[in-house]
Order: sequence, then structure tokens, then C-alpha cells
Amino acid sequence: MSSVLLSEPARDPRVQAGTFNVLIVGGGSAGISVAARLIAAKVRSVAIVEPSTEHYYQPLWTLVGGGAVRPEESRRAESSLVPKGCTWIRDAVASFDPDANRVMLASGGVVNYNYLVVCPGIQVDFDRVDGLTDVIGTNGVSSNYTYELAPKTFQMLDAVTGGTLLFTMPAGAIKCAGAPQKIMYLAADLMRKKKIKARVVFASASPAIFGVKAFQEPLMKVVRRYGIETLFNHNLVAVDGARKVAIFEKTDDPAKPRVEIPYAFMHVTPPQSAPDFVKHSPLAETTGPQKGYVKIDPATMRSTFYPDVFALGDAGSSPNSKTGAAIRKQAPVVVENMLAAMHGSPLKATYDGYASCPIVTGYGKLILAEFDYDGKPTPSIPIIDLKKERWSMFMLKRRFLPWMYWNLMLRGRA
Ligand code: FAD
Repeated sequence: MSSVLLSEPARDPRVQAGTFNVLIVGGGSAGISVAARLIAAKVRSVAIVEPSTEHYYQPLWTLVGGGAVRPEESRRAESSLVPKGCTWIRDAVASFDPDANRVMLASGGVVNYNYLVVCPGIQVDFDRVDGLTDVIGTNGVSSNYTYELAPKTFQMLDAVTGGTLLFTMPAGAIKCAGAPQKIMYLAADLMRKKKIKARVVFASASPAIFGVKAFQEPLMKVVRRYGIETLFNHNLVAVDGARKVAIFEKTDDPAKPRVEIPYAFMHVTPPQSAPDFVKHSPLAETTGPQKGYVKIDPATMRSTFYPDVFALGDAGSSPNSKTGAAIRKQAPVVVENMLAAMHGSPLKATYDGYASCPIVTGYGKLILAEFDYDGKPTPSIPIIDLKKERWSMFMLKRRFLPWMYWNLMLRGRA
């Protein structure tokens, strides 16, 4: 791996105006997985544009918020993950010029490419809820959706002595649609263990507990066991931090009446959207629920506008559940199809929408939801009924999946 910090005064002019065979935008779960596979396939001249010196395994943030894992376990130096033979351009992409096969960098540099892979993840928009940025991280309001806040979730939960514990889920696509409720089950279990009487409320902009029908009843069973109150079609629009009151809009009523709920603790899942520089680019889908995300064919992962552009992960428009598990299946498809494109062959590899969401239902309990584009359950181990809560599946999330991520997936071996 060679690293170039383009914003340094003495920058390498060959890289500043460099040309790469494959340029990858974003060195997160998707970018590193694709880079590792391209290098293994002996593709030359591969570069990643990634501004951050740290890489995060975000699925562990649920357990960080539940006090079961130290935050540092989810973090590694980006330099240790960029594969040997791949150039790391330490900068951010500011805009795309796909008609000229180039990207513009935040530092002012320009990088040309033959093939482009776009995977800068999804944007968390805390500022789309009035008053939230003033209060988040203080006064009983936290979120597992950032590395800095996830440990505060547990500090705040551990300090609760009663009252209402409120868990929100926004409208629109988010990463890991199960995460808003996983932390709620851990919190409910914590209260049970500590014998603290608390009201637990799930207020969600969605009409049901989970988008995939097969897992709704097993999850509602868990909800009933903990005595959790559910408020569906409730979208968080504002927070009054001084009064400790959350304000929701009812999404199933055309009058959009507002409902106020006081809280002792609130876990907010922020609204999310495509990164601004993707939304405002010629690569973006322009209509419908995928508006703003990189418009790709959901099977081949290739841009429907530009044949030398591919996208995957949270930034892509494929209508799968946005998870690392989906990326594990998408990365080989992107690489195989890009190699085919390089050889002028038809694109044969297809992605079926597989995603998996390990839904933690308590300390030591987990339902592993695996499904495809059609919401059809697609269990990796067909003989086990994954709709049942299991300790073995909790250990899979706590121990096996992080090991698999660092050692196999990011090395292009799984
Ligand atoms: P990321 O991994 O977020 O990487 C995007 C990268 O792009 C980042 O490194 C960023 O710095 C970089 N970038 C951003 N802007 C630019 C720019 N302008 N130029 C260049 N680079 C840029 N998934 C599961 O499979 N199972 C789970 O149990 C699970 N639980 C989760 C729980 C929580 C609380 C959260 C937050 C997520 C969870 N996920 C889970 C989702 C999973 O982490 C994401 O789907 C996955 O990380 C997305 O990978 P990505 O590469 O698309 O984006």
C-alpha cells in the first residue's frame, strides 16, 4: 500500500493529476473488500480515495451501546487494511465528472480513471431533526450511529433509574434497519436485570416492527415479552432538550398531527440519505425511494448511465437492506463484472439482494434475519430455524462475524 496525502504542500504532481485503471471512492467495508479482490485478481493501477485514517466495523456499535464491547474493538487503522499494491489517496472526492472519466478532490486535485467504483457509504443527517444537534450526546439523548456516541448510549442507559426509555426509527432508508430495535432489547434486558421499572417505547416511522414479513411475528413476540409499547407511523421531527420531550409527526394521517413524548433516555436513529456529493452528481438516481443514491442495475451493480462506473454498499441504489452482509455478496459481483467489462465480455455475475441482519434480542440472544430482494428468507444454514432466538447466533455476532470481517471479508476471501 502506498499512501499519498494530497492536501500536503509538497504533493506528488503525478498523483494529483494521476490516472488509475480502477479508482475506488471510499475505503469502508465495500471499498476495501473490492480493492482486495481486484489486487488478488492481479488488476494493476488500483487506487482508493479515502479521507479517514480510521476504519470502523460498525455492526459492533450495537454491542458498544449495550456496554458489551469496548469501542476500540470496532476500530482499526485504515493503513493496515488498504491492500498491498493499492494506492491510498488520503483525500475526499468533492465531485464527479463521469463524462470525462475523472473525479475532483476536496484538495483541488483531479484523478482520472478507466473504471470507477463508488462506495462512500450513507450520510447520517442529525440536523434534519429540529433541536437534535443541540442535545445529542448530553442530557439522556444518544445514538449508536457514530463511534463517539455509541459508548455514551451505555453510560446514559446505565444511569437510568426509571421513566420512559424511547427508541426511534426514521422514515426512509437507513443502514442496518434492525439496529434501532437491537439497542432497545438490550436496554429492556438491562432494566430487567437491574430490576428497574421503566416504560420502554419504540416509536417508528414504519408501519411495522420490521420490513421483512417472515420476521415480524418472532420480533413482536420479543416486544410482548419485554412489555414494550410500539407506536408505528411516528416520525421524530423535533427534540426539546430543555423539557426532555420528543416530538413526532403521525405519518399515516394526512393532517400530520404532532405527538409529544417525554423521555428519561432516548436513543435516536437519525434520518439518513445519500452523501451530498453523490446526490448532486450525474451518477444519482433522480426519482423514487432510491433518489440520490448511485443509480445501478440491481443485479449487475453497474451504473445505468455510465458503463465504466459501478457502485455497491450503502451508497448504491440497489433496493437491498443496507448492511455489511449485503456487501459481502455484492463485492464479488462488482469485481467479476468489471473484469468482464475490461475484456469486452457480457456481464454475467448477478446479486440477488441478499442481506442479513443479526437482531440482538437481549444479552446472549439473537434472531438472525437473512433475506433477499423479495423478502424471502435465505438462511445460510438451512437446517436451523433462524426465526428463533439463539445464544449460538449471539456468539456468531459477538465473536465470529468480527473475525470474519477483519480476516476474510476485507482480505477479499469471503
Ligand atoms: P462505510 O463502511 O460507511 O464506508 C464509507 C467510507 O467512505 C468511509 O470510510 C468514509 O470515510 C468514506 N467517504 C465518505 N465520504 C467520502 C468522500 N467524499 N470521498 C472519499 N471517501 C469518502 N451491517 C451488518 O451487516 N450487520 C449488522 O449487524 C450491522 N449493524 C449495524 C449497526 C449500526 C449501529 C450501524 C451504524 C451499522 C450497522 N451495519 C450492519 C451496517 C454496515 O456497517 C454498513 O452497511 C456498511 O459499513 C456499509 O459499508 P460501505 O462501505 O457502504 O460504507
